Amino acid sequence: MNSIPYGRQDISDADIAAVIETLKSDFLTQGPKIQEFEESFAQYIGVKYAVAVSNGTAALHLCALALGVNNQSKVITTPITFAASANCIKYCDGEITLVDIDPDTGLIDIEKARKVLEQAEKGEYSGIIPVDFAGLAVNLEEVKKLANEFNLWIIEDACHAPGGYFVDSNGEKQFCGNGDFADLAIFSFHPVKHIATGEGGMITTNDPELYKELLLLRTHGITKDADALQENHGGWYYEMQELGYNYRLSDMQAALGITQLQRAKSSLEKRREIAMRYDKAFENTSIISLKGGTGHAYHLYVIQAKDRKGLYEYLRENKIYAQVHYIPLHLMPYYQKLGYKKGDFPIAEAYYDKCLSLPMYPTLTEKEQDFVIEKVKRFVNG
Ligand SMILES: *Cc1c(COP(=O)(O)O)cnc(C)c1O
Repeated sequence: MNSIPYGRQDISDADIAAVIETLKSDFLTQGPKIQEFEESFAQYIGVKYAVAVSNGTAALHLCALALGVNNQSKVITTPITFAASANCIKYCDGEITLVDIDPDTGLIDIEKARKVLEQAEKGEYSGIIPVDFAGLAVNLEEVKKLANEFNLWIIEDACHAPGGYFVDSNGEKQFCGNGDFADLAIFSFHPVKHIATGEGGMITTNDPELYKELLLLRTHGITKDADALQENHGGWYYEMQELGYNYRLSDMQAALGITQLQRAKSSLEKRREIAMRYDKAFENTSIISLKGGTGHAYHLYVIQAKDRKGLYEYLRENKIYAQVHYIPLHLMPYYQKLGYKKGDFPIAEAYYDKCLSLPMYPTLTEKEQDFVIEKVKRFVNG
Protein backbone atom coordinates (compact mmCIF):
# COMPACT_ATOMS: atom_id res chain seq x y z
CA MET A 1 0.00 0.00 0.00
CA ASN A 2 1.33 3.47 -0.87
CA SER A 3 1.31 6.10 1.83
CA ILE A 4 -2.08 7.71 2.35
CA PRO A 5 -2.18 11.41 3.28
CA TYR A 6 -5.16 13.10 4.94
CA GLY A 7 -5.78 15.23 1.87
CA ARG A 8 -4.31 15.75 -1.58
CA GLN A 9 -4.90 17.50 -4.89
CA ASP A 10 -6.19 15.84 -8.04
CA ILE A 11 -4.48 17.13 -11.20
CA SER A 12 -5.87 15.88 -14.53
CA ASP A 13 -4.44 16.01 -18.05
CA ALA A 14 -6.94 18.77 -18.82
CA ASP A 15 -5.53 20.80 -15.90
CA ILE A 16 -1.99 20.39 -17.21
CA ALA A 17 -3.00 21.27 -20.78
CA ALA A 18 -4.77 24.43 -19.57
CA VAL A 19 -1.69 25.65 -17.68
CA ILE A 20 0.58 24.96 -20.67
CA GLU A 21 -1.78 26.81 -22.98
CA THR A 22 -1.60 29.84 -20.69
CA LEU A 23 2.20 29.64 -20.54
CA LYS A 24 2.23 29.94 -24.33
CA SER A 25 -0.22 32.85 -24.34
CA ASP A 26 0.48 36.59 -24.04
CA PHE A 27 -0.48 36.80 -20.39
CA LEU A 28 1.08 35.04 -17.41
CA THR A 29 -0.68 37.47 -15.08
CA GLN A 30 -3.34 40.22 -15.35
CA GLY A 31 -4.76 38.47 -18.40
CA PRO A 32 -8.18 37.07 -19.36
CA LYS A 33 -8.03 33.89 -17.25
CA ILE A 34 -8.61 35.79 -14.03
CA GLN A 35 -12.01 37.15 -15.01
CA GLU A 36 -13.00 33.82 -16.53
CA PHE A 37 -12.13 32.04 -13.28
CA GLU A 38 -13.96 34.66 -11.21
CA GLU A 39 -17.09 34.41 -13.32
CA SER A 40 -17.21 30.62 -13.31
CA PHE A 41 -16.52 30.52 -9.57
CA ALA A 42 -19.29 33.04 -8.88
CA GLN A 43 -21.66 30.93 -10.92
CA TYR A 44 -20.68 27.75 -9.07
CA ILE A 45 -21.24 29.39 -5.69
CA GLY A 46 -24.37 31.30 -6.71
CA VAL A 47 -23.12 34.81 -5.92
CA LYS A 48 -22.86 38.07 -7.87
CA TYR A 49 -19.18 38.97 -7.53
CA ALA A 50 -15.95 37.05 -7.06
CA VAL A 51 -12.44 38.48 -6.65
CA ALA A 52 -9.47 36.13 -7.20
CA VAL A 53 -6.49 36.72 -4.93
CA SER A 54 -3.10 35.17 -4.19
CA ASN A 55 -4.26 32.98 -1.28
CA GLY A 56 -6.96 32.56 1.34
CA THR A 57 -5.06 34.59 3.90
CA ALA A 58 -4.76 37.53 1.51
CA ALA A 59 -8.51 37.15 0.93
CA LEU A 60 -9.14 37.52 4.66
CA HIS A 61 -6.78 40.50 4.91
CA LEU A 62 -8.51 42.31 2.04
CA CYS A 63 -11.93 41.61 3.60
CA ALA A 64 -10.80 43.13 6.90
CA LEU A 65 -9.40 46.18 5.06
CA ALA A 66 -12.52 46.63 2.93
CA LEU A 67 -14.70 46.54 6.05
CA GLY A 68 -12.52 49.19 7.69
CA VAL A 69 -11.04 47.12 10.51
CA ASN A 70 -8.65 49.24 12.62
CA ASN A 71 -7.36 49.55 16.18
CA GLN A 72 -10.88 50.32 17.41
CA SER A 73 -12.34 47.08 16.01
CA LYS A 74 -13.27 44.03 18.09
CA VAL A 75 -14.17 40.89 16.19
CA ILE A 76 -15.47 37.46 17.22
CA THR A 77 -14.30 34.13 15.84
CA THR A 78 -13.82 30.48 16.83
CA PRO A 79 -10.71 28.90 18.40
CA ILE A 80 -11.11 25.79 16.20
CA THR A 81 -9.88 27.15 12.88
CA PHE A 82 -6.71 27.82 10.97
CA ALA A 83 -4.88 30.81 12.46
CA ALA A 84 -5.49 33.02 9.41
CA SER A 85 -9.21 33.40 10.30
CA ALA A 86 -8.17 35.48 13.32
CA ASN A 87 -4.80 36.84 12.14
CA CYS A 88 -6.47 39.02 9.48
CA ILE A 89 -7.90 41.20 12.26
CA LYS A 90 -4.49 41.47 13.92
CA TYR A 91 -2.96 42.60 10.58
CA CYS A 92 -5.27 45.64 10.87
CA ASP A 93 -4.48 46.19 14.58
CA GLY A 94 -7.94 45.03 15.67
CA GLU A 95 -8.77 42.81 18.63
CA ILE A 96 -9.94 39.18 18.47
CA THR A 97 -12.45 37.65 20.88
CA LEU A 98 -12.71 33.88 20.71
CA VAL A 99 -15.97 32.10 21.52
CA ASP A 100 -16.14 28.39 22.38
CA ILE A 101 -17.53 25.76 20.01
CA ASP A 102 -20.55 23.47 19.92
CA PRO A 103 -19.20 19.99 20.79
CA ASP A 104 -21.38 18.14 18.25
CA THR A 105 -20.53 20.25 15.20
CA GLY A 106 -17.15 21.80 16.02
CA LEU A 107 -18.60 25.15 14.85
CA ILE A 108 -18.73 28.39 16.82
CA ASP A 109 -21.49 28.28 19.45
CA ILE A 110 -23.83 31.06 18.35
CA GLU A 111 -25.58 31.25 21.74
CA LYS A 112 -22.23 31.80 23.44
CA ALA A 113 -21.45 34.53 20.93
CA ARG A 114 -24.79 36.14 21.84
CA LYS A 115 -23.83 36.11 25.53
CA VAL A 116 -20.53 37.83 24.78
CA LEU A 117 -22.36 40.50 22.78
CA GLU A 118 -25.05 41.00 25.44
CA GLN A 119 -22.40 41.56 28.09
CA ALA A 120 -20.45 43.99 25.92
CA GLU A 121 -21.06 47.72 25.63
CA LYS A 122 -23.26 48.87 22.79
CA GLY A 123 -21.20 49.08 19.61
CA GLU A 124 -18.17 47.45 21.21
CA TYR A 125 -17.99 44.74 18.55
CA SER A 126 -17.80 45.41 14.84
CA GLY A 127 -17.83 41.97 13.25
CA ILE A 128 -17.91 38.20 13.40
CA ILE A 129 -16.01 35.58 11.36
CA PRO A 130 -17.88 32.26 11.35
CA VAL A 131 -15.92 29.33 9.88
CA ASP A 132 -17.59 26.46 7.98
CA PHE A 133 -15.28 24.08 9.80
CA ALA A 134 -14.50 20.73 8.11
CA GLY A 135 -17.07 21.64 5.43
CA LEU A 136 -20.16 21.91 7.64
CA ALA A 137 -21.96 25.17 6.86
CA VAL A 138 -22.56 27.53 9.77
CA ASN A 139 -26.25 28.49 10.00
CA LEU A 140 -25.71 32.02 8.74
CA GLU A 141 -29.40 32.87 9.07
CA GLU A 142 -28.86 32.62 12.84
CA VAL A 143 -25.60 34.55 12.65
CA LYS A 144 -27.30 37.25 10.56
CA LYS A 145 -29.99 37.72 13.24
CA LEU A 146 -27.23 38.32 15.75
CA ALA A 147 -25.40 40.61 13.33
CA ASN A 148 -28.56 42.69 12.80
CA GLU A 149 -29.20 43.00 16.53
CA PHE A 150 -25.66 44.06 17.36
CA ASN A 151 -24.77 45.86 14.15
CA LEU A 152 -21.99 43.53 13.04
CA TRP A 153 -20.57 42.69 9.66
CA ILE A 154 -19.99 39.04 8.76
CA ILE A 155 -16.98 37.50 6.98
CA GLU A 156 -17.73 33.84 6.26
CA ASP A 157 -14.54 31.77 6.20
CA ALA A 158 -15.74 29.16 3.70
CA CYS A 159 -12.29 27.70 2.91
CA HIS A 160 -13.53 24.22 3.83
CA ALA A 161 -16.89 24.42 2.15
CA PRO A 162 -17.26 25.33 -1.54
CA GLY A 163 -20.48 23.54 -2.54
CA GLY A 164 -21.59 23.09 1.08
CA TYR A 165 -24.93 24.42 2.27
CA PHE A 166 -27.36 24.68 5.19
CA VAL A 167 -31.14 24.65 4.93
CA ASP A 168 -32.74 27.92 6.07
CA SER A 169 -36.05 28.43 7.91
CA ASN A 170 -37.92 28.52 4.57
CA GLY A 171 -36.52 25.12 3.60
CA GLU A 172 -34.17 26.70 1.02
CA LYS A 173 -30.61 25.50 0.52
CA GLN A 174 -28.18 28.31 1.33
CA PHE A 175 -24.81 27.63 -0.28
CA CYS A 176 -21.61 28.67 1.49
CA GLY A 177 -20.31 31.99 0.21
CA ASN A 178 -23.53 32.91 -1.66
CA GLY A 179 -23.60 36.35 -0.03
CA ASP A 180 -27.23 36.15 1.13
CA PHE A 181 -26.26 36.58 4.79
CA ALA A 182 -22.53 37.32 5.03
CA ASP A 183 -21.12 40.60 3.71
CA LEU A 184 -18.07 38.78 2.37
CA ALA A 185 -16.94 35.17 2.13
CA ILE A 186 -13.50 33.74 1.44
CA PHE A 187 -12.11 30.55 -0.09
CA SER A 188 -8.64 29.01 -0.43
CA PHE A 189 -7.16 27.02 -3.31
CA HIS A 190 -4.32 25.49 -1.33
CA PRO A 191 -3.80 21.92 -2.63
CA VAL A 192 -5.47 20.26 0.36
CA LYS A 193 -8.70 22.24 -0.24
CA HIS A 194 -11.42 21.32 -2.76
CA ILE A 195 -10.00 23.28 -5.69
CA ALA A 196 -6.21 23.50 -6.11
CA THR A 197 -4.25 26.29 -7.79
CA GLY A 198 -1.04 25.84 -5.77
CA GLU A 199 -1.60 29.02 -3.83
CA GLY A 200 -4.81 30.90 -4.45
CA GLY A 201 -7.93 32.37 -2.93
CA MET A 202 -11.27 33.98 -3.73
CA ILE A 203 -13.57 36.52 -2.10
CA THR A 204 -17.30 36.43 -2.89
CA THR A 205 -19.95 39.09 -2.21
CA ASN A 206 -23.25 40.51 -3.46
CA ASP A 207 -22.26 44.05 -2.44
CA PRO A 208 -21.14 46.19 -5.42
CA GLU A 209 -19.36 48.77 -3.22
CA LEU A 210 -17.30 46.17 -1.37
CA TYR A 211 -16.56 44.50 -4.71
CA LYS A 212 -15.13 47.74 -6.15
CA GLU A 213 -13.08 48.33 -3.02
CA LEU A 214 -11.64 44.81 -3.14
CA LEU A 215 -10.55 45.25 -6.77
CA LEU A 216 -8.68 48.42 -5.80
CA LEU A 217 -7.03 46.92 -2.72
CA ARG A 218 -5.95 43.79 -4.61
CA THR A 219 -3.73 45.81 -6.91
CA HIS A 220 -1.96 48.57 -4.93
CA GLY A 221 -5.04 50.78 -4.66
CA ILE A 222 -4.46 51.63 -8.31
CA THR A 223 -7.23 52.28 -10.83
CA LYS A 224 -7.30 53.04 -14.56
CA ASP A 225 -11.09 53.23 -14.64
CA ALA A 226 -11.86 56.51 -16.45
CA ASP A 227 -14.98 57.14 -14.34
CA ALA A 228 -13.02 56.85 -11.10
CA LEU A 229 -10.00 59.02 -12.03
CA GLN A 230 -9.61 62.48 -10.50
CA GLU A 231 -7.56 63.68 -13.46
CA ASN A 232 -6.65 62.15 -16.81
CA HIS A 233 -3.32 62.88 -18.48
CA GLY A 234 -3.67 60.37 -21.35
CA GLY A 235 -3.69 56.71 -22.21
CA TRP A 236 -0.88 55.80 -19.79
CA TYR A 237 -2.53 57.47 -16.84
CA TYR A 238 -3.52 55.69 -13.64
CA GLU A 239 -4.03 56.80 -10.07
CA MET A 240 -3.08 55.19 -6.81
CA GLN A 241 -6.03 56.25 -4.72
CA GLU A 242 -5.46 54.20 -1.60
CA LEU A 243 -2.77 52.10 0.04
CA GLY A 244 -3.32 48.66 -1.49
CA TYR A 245 -1.32 45.48 -1.99
CA ASN A 246 -0.23 43.11 -4.72
CA TYR A 247 -2.51 40.19 -3.85
CA ARG A 248 -3.19 39.10 -7.43
CA LEU A 249 -3.52 35.53 -8.66
CA SER A 250 -1.55 34.68 -11.83
CA ASP A 251 -3.16 33.56 -15.09
CA MET A 252 -1.45 30.14 -14.89
CA GLN A 253 -3.12 29.60 -11.55
CA ALA A 254 -6.48 30.88 -12.77
CA ALA A 255 -6.30 28.55 -15.79
CA LEU A 256 -5.76 25.65 -13.41
CA GLY A 257 -8.63 26.87 -11.23
CA ILE A 258 -11.01 26.97 -14.21
CA THR A 259 -10.45 23.33 -15.17
CA GLN A 260 -10.41 22.24 -11.52
CA LEU A 261 -13.75 23.96 -11.05
CA GLN A 262 -15.24 21.91 -13.89
CA ARG A 263 -14.76 18.82 -11.71
CA ALA A 264 -15.73 20.47 -8.42
CA LYS A 265 -19.24 19.03 -8.37
CA SER A 266 -18.22 15.44 -9.08
CA SER A 267 -15.30 15.72 -6.64
CA LEU A 268 -17.68 16.93 -3.94
CA GLU A 269 -19.98 13.95 -4.60
CA LYS A 270 -16.97 11.69 -4.23
CA ARG A 271 -16.10 13.30 -0.89
CA ARG A 272 -19.66 12.72 0.30
CA GLU A 273 -19.52 9.06 -0.76
CA ILE A 274 -16.27 8.60 1.14
CA ALA A 275 -17.85 10.18 4.22
CA MET A 276 -20.85 7.85 3.96
CA ARG A 277 -18.55 4.83 3.80
CA TYR A 278 -16.74 5.99 6.95
CA ASP A 279 -20.07 6.69 8.68
CA LYS A 280 -21.30 3.21 7.85
CA ALA A 281 -18.04 1.53 8.88
CA PHE A 282 -18.04 3.25 12.28
CA GLU A 283 -21.72 2.62 13.06
CA ASN A 284 -22.12 0.62 16.27
CA THR A 285 -18.48 1.12 17.22
CA SER A 286 -17.07 3.42 19.88
CA ILE A 287 -15.67 5.70 17.15
CA ILE A 288 -17.52 9.02 17.15
CA SER A 289 -17.54 11.27 14.07
CA LEU A 290 -18.27 14.98 13.98
CA LYS A 291 -21.77 15.85 12.75
CA GLY A 292 -22.17 15.16 9.03
CA GLY A 293 -25.19 15.58 6.77
CA THR A 294 -26.31 16.15 3.21
CA GLY A 295 -25.03 19.73 2.88
CA HIS A 296 -21.61 18.92 4.32
CA ALA A 297 -18.72 19.62 1.92
CA TYR A 298 -16.29 17.24 3.71
CA HIS A 299 -13.01 19.04 3.43
CA LEU A 300 -12.23 16.94 6.50
CA TYR A 301 -13.62 13.78 8.05
CA VAL A 302 -13.00 14.16 11.77
CA ILE A 303 -13.33 11.43 14.37
CA GLN A 304 -12.94 11.62 18.14
CA ALA A 305 -10.63 8.99 19.60
CA LYS A 306 -9.94 8.42 23.29
CA ASP A 307 -6.26 7.62 22.68
CA ARG A 308 -5.80 10.03 19.81
CA LYS A 309 -2.01 10.17 20.05
CA GLY A 310 -1.78 6.38 20.06
CA LEU A 311 -4.09 6.13 17.05
CA TYR A 312 -2.19 8.89 15.19
CA GLU A 313 1.09 7.04 15.70
CA TYR A 314 -0.34 3.62 14.90
CA LEU A 315 -1.74 4.95 11.62
CA ARG A 316 1.62 6.52 10.76
CA GLU A 317 3.31 3.17 11.30
CA ASN A 318 0.96 1.95 8.60
CA LYS A 319 1.79 4.93 6.36
CA ILE A 320 -1.59 6.54 6.95
CA TYR A 321 -0.94 10.23 7.61
CA ALA A 322 -3.97 11.42 9.55
CA GLN A 323 -3.86 15.00 10.85
CA VAL A 324 -5.15 17.12 13.71
CA HIS A 325 -7.44 20.06 12.93
CA TYR A 326 -6.97 22.23 14.84
CA ILE A 327 -4.79 23.04 17.80
CA PRO A 328 -7.05 25.67 19.44
CA LEU A 329 -5.94 29.21 18.59
CA HIS A 330 -5.87 30.33 22.23
CA LEU A 331 -3.17 27.74 22.95
CA MET A 332 -0.81 29.30 20.40
CA PRO A 333 2.03 31.25 22.04
CA TYR A 334 1.15 34.34 20.01
CA TYR A 335 -2.46 34.40 21.26
CA GLN A 336 -1.32 33.53 24.80
CA LYS A 337 0.82 36.67 24.72
CA LEU A 338 -2.39 38.56 24.04
CA GLY A 339 -3.88 37.23 27.28
CA TYR A 340 -5.49 33.90 26.46
CA LYS A 341 -4.67 30.85 28.56
CA LYS A 342 -5.32 27.14 28.86
CA GLY A 343 -8.78 26.52 30.28
CA ASP A 344 -10.40 29.51 28.56
CA PHE A 345 -12.36 27.36 26.09
CA PRO A 346 -12.94 23.95 27.68
CA ILE A 347 -15.09 22.54 24.86
CA ALA A 348 -12.52 23.43 22.21
CA GLU A 349 -9.80 21.91 24.38
CA ALA A 350 -11.75 18.68 24.98
CA TYR A 351 -12.38 18.48 21.24
CA TYR A 352 -8.68 19.01 20.52
CA ASP A 353 -7.66 16.23 22.93
CA LYS A 354 -9.50 13.65 20.80
CA CYS A 355 -9.86 14.92 17.23
CA LEU A 356 -8.23 13.23 14.25
CA SER A 357 -8.85 13.93 10.55
CA LEU A 358 -8.88 10.72 8.50
CA PRO A 359 -7.87 10.62 4.82
CA MET A 360 -10.47 12.47 2.74
CA TYR A 361 -9.90 13.38 -0.92
CA PRO A 362 -11.66 12.50 -4.17
CA THR A 363 -9.00 10.12 -5.47
CA LEU A 364 -8.90 8.01 -2.29
CA THR A 365 -9.72 4.52 -3.58
CA GLU A 366 -12.14 2.11 -1.89
CA LYS A 367 -9.24 -0.23 -1.27
CA GLU A 368 -7.25 2.52 0.44
CA GLN A 369 -10.24 3.61 2.47
CA ASP A 370 -10.93 0.02 3.56
CA PHE A 371 -7.31 -0.21 4.69
CA VAL A 372 -7.73 2.98 6.75
CA ILE A 373 -11.00 1.74 8.26
CA GLU A 374 -9.51 -1.62 9.16
CA LYS A 375 -6.53 -0.02 10.90
CA VAL A 376 -8.66 2.48 12.81
CA LYS A 377 -11.01 -0.25 13.99
CA ARG A 378 -8.17 -2.58 14.91
CA PHE A 379 -6.53 0.11 17.08
CA VAL A 380 -9.73 1.27 18.75
CA ASN A 381 -10.88 -2.27 19.53
CA GLY A 382 -7.45 -3.00 20.98
C1 LIG B 1 -6.67 27.16 4.35
C2 LIG B 1 -7.40 28.07 5.24
C3 LIG B 1 -7.16 29.45 5.28
C4 LIG B 1 -6.01 30.13 4.58
O1 LIG B 1 -5.90 29.84 3.26
P1 LIG B 1 -4.46 29.96 2.51
O2 LIG B 1 -4.86 29.89 1.07
O3 LIG B 1 -3.66 28.79 2.96
O4 LIG B 1 -3.86 31.26 2.87
C5 LIG B 1 -7.98 30.23 6.08
N1 LIG B 1 -8.97 29.69 6.81
C6 LIG B 1 -9.20 28.37 6.82
C7 LIG B 1 -10.31 27.84 7.66
C8 LIG B 1 -8.42 27.51 6.06
O5 LIG B 1 -8.64 26.20 6.10
